[in-house]
Amino acid sequence: MTPALALEDLCKRFGRIHAVEHLSLEVPSGQMVGFLGPNGAGKSTTLYLIPRLVHPDSGRIRIFGADLRRDFKRAIRSVGVMVEAPAFYEYLSARRNLQLAARILGGVRKHDIDEIFERIGLADRQQDKVRTYSQGMKQRLGIGRALLGRPRLLVLDEPTNGMDPEGTREILGFLQQRVRNDGLTVFISSHLLYEVEEYCDTVFVINQGHLVASGNVREILKPQEHIVRATFVGKVPEPRWLRAQAPIKHVEAVAPDTLDIMLGAEDSAWLNLYLLQAGFRICALYPRQKTLKEFFLSITGDHGHA
Ligand code: ATP
Repeated sequence: MTPALALEDLCKRFGRIHAVEHLSLEVPSGQMVGFLGPNGAGKSTTLYLIPRLVHPDSGRIRIFGADLRRDFKRAIRSVGVMVEAPAFYEYLSARRNLQLAARILGGVRKHDIDEIFERIGLADRQQDKVRTYSQGMKQRLGIGRALLGRPRLLVLDEPTNGMDPEGTREILGFLQQRVRNDGLTVFISSHLLYEVEEYCDTVFVINQGHLVASGNVREILKPQEHIVRATFVGKVPEPRWLRAQAPIKHVEAVAPDTLDIMLGAEDSAWLNLYLLQAGFRICALYPRQKTLKEFFLSITGDHGHA
């Protein structure tokens, strides 16, 4: 099946900064696909290359097989893009905002706008001024605007940036429904591991402009290592001593009586017994979710890389 989006050997530099370096990836159609990377990894630059807000130094982009450079009109017709926080005429109603955007786009019927308000769950608030909207509602309206041209691929740059957990769930759940119910493909950048873990099917991981991992979310993000947080009563083991024990990969003191210990997925029971036998008393031992930095550490094996 033709991928919704194919990036082939893309490069983009800003002076001496290599924002995107020989990046190739294929976004499968009909999925929610995450584009994960820490701040400054090159996510926004990559996404800006798609609507040609930024021009690549080299490489090629295809959207549903159409070459963006040679066949721009056909390629761009199938994609809706939302980069940065969407801007609106705050003193006009949401409906009026979409009508104005539709006029610029052309070929959008009244019925299409009605349908979009239904789909973004704002039908009963469409006559309200945008300035009365919450951030989550504005993001949904931005997505609605990106849907005006009936795209098959939606590209979104960190749509949940700065939002509270409820707003985040609202946006990502909404997008997931569009993928499941309407067959839309969503390519969404994020620097939050749990967002991608929970809502995406496929993930591409980028760091310093390079693709560092890709594949099925469950396989790529499935922890090879666990991090357990251990709280001790009485004496606490020396991190350096613990690090020297075979299954332990990393130890960090997070409080005078508490250590975060990274170890193999099956090794928590061993740790508990081993520390007990060595004369330490653990009063709490529970798994902690990996941070993006730790995730990078586990896939690149390099402390300084992320
Ligand atoms: P964030 O999560 O912080 O948005 P990002 O993964 O989207 O980060 P980019 O914004 O693509 O990363 O930036 C990649 C690199 O390119 C960074 O080093 C950034 O400083 C640099 N960069 C991006 N845009 C420009 C520009 N217009 N001029 C100069 N450097 C830039």
